[in-house]
Amino acid sequence: MKHKTEINGLTKTCGLIGNPVEHTLSPVIHNTLAELTNSDLVYLPFLVEPAHLEEALRGARALHIRGLNVTVPHKEKILPYLTEVDALAAKIGAVNTLVETEGGYRGYNTDMPGLCRAMADDGIQVEGARVLILGAGGVARAVAVMFCEKASEITILNRTEEKASAIAEEVNGYAGRQVAKAMALSRCGELEGEDYLAVQATSLGMYPRVQETLIDDGDFYKKIGIGYDLIYNPAETRFMRLVKAAGGKAFNGLKMLLYQGIIAYELWNRCEITKEQAAVVYQKLSEKL
Ligand code: NAP
Repeated sequence: MKHKTEINGLTKTCGLIGNPVEHTLSPVIHNTLAELTNSDLVYLPFLVEPAHLEEALRGARALHIRGLNVTVPHKEKILPYLTEVDALAAKIGAVNTLVETEGGYRGYNTDMPGLCRAMADDGIQVEGARVLILGAGGVARAVAVMFCEKASEITILNRTEEKASAIAEEVNGYAGRQVAKAMALSRCGELEGEDYLAVQATSLGMYPRVQETLIDDGDFYKKIGIGYDLIYNPAETRFMRLVKAAGGKAFNGLKMLLYQGIIAYELWNRCEITKEQAAVVYQKLSEKL
């Protein structure tokens, strides 16, 4: 990280806007990348309350903040204040990265490309996979949108079935085929087939409520070949343990976090981060957790 006394009038500023921001790991990612790429850049978290979102963006623009990450609760609400939105972000309906342009900010979604890069890194194939998504919140929806063209089928399993049905209907429209279907949590025992690529996209099991998981039944996990939990704290969730106990492979969401940050950094600095640099940042993130 750039030493505070080395900051000068040429130093570029990037940051994160969200609420809360106290526990964010994004400064670790970006300040480490700045150091590794010899960039004169600092990255800071900014607490922005929902009522001040538009003002905050206008202020950032006036201050020539080069790039911003956007986190909860602003990922969707910020869309109307942007001058441009990248096609994938528009389809997903949420942005997590802003790049300063002449007229304002252009919004991107690097969460989903980040997940794809993380999965590729872990040797996971989405092409032709039978995908199971646990949850039907904002991230589950984004995963369904991202995978709907590549997966052979997608089942969206959620406590509130209507939310899963709405996503399935929408992505079937995008894919132009009946690729997705909804399933109520109460019917999870009826899931047919095996060797699912299961993406855990609920908040259950996240620190400090580490004993929670959407489904407890050990038999259910026998149908999962790969379990990908988007949670990264704890490093091994209860969901991951249940997948492994049933003979499957399990991964956490730390690499997704890493790569969404790396893709944002690449957009801000028009550069390419190497695998070796990514590995250094991953190590730092693991140590922080
Ligand atoms: P969200 O919109 O709040 O959705 C939460 C989902 O969890 C909903 O489907 C909800 O079901 C379900 N849920 C919550 N509590 C439940 C309970 N007690 N019983 C059953 N279902 C419950 O959240 P999100 O923004 O999509 O985020 C989902 C997860 O993704 C979070 O855990 C977050 O940590 C993770 N994430 C990871 C990364 C990364 O970089 N690795 C990035 C972003 C997000 P209902 O619809 O029935 O309420």
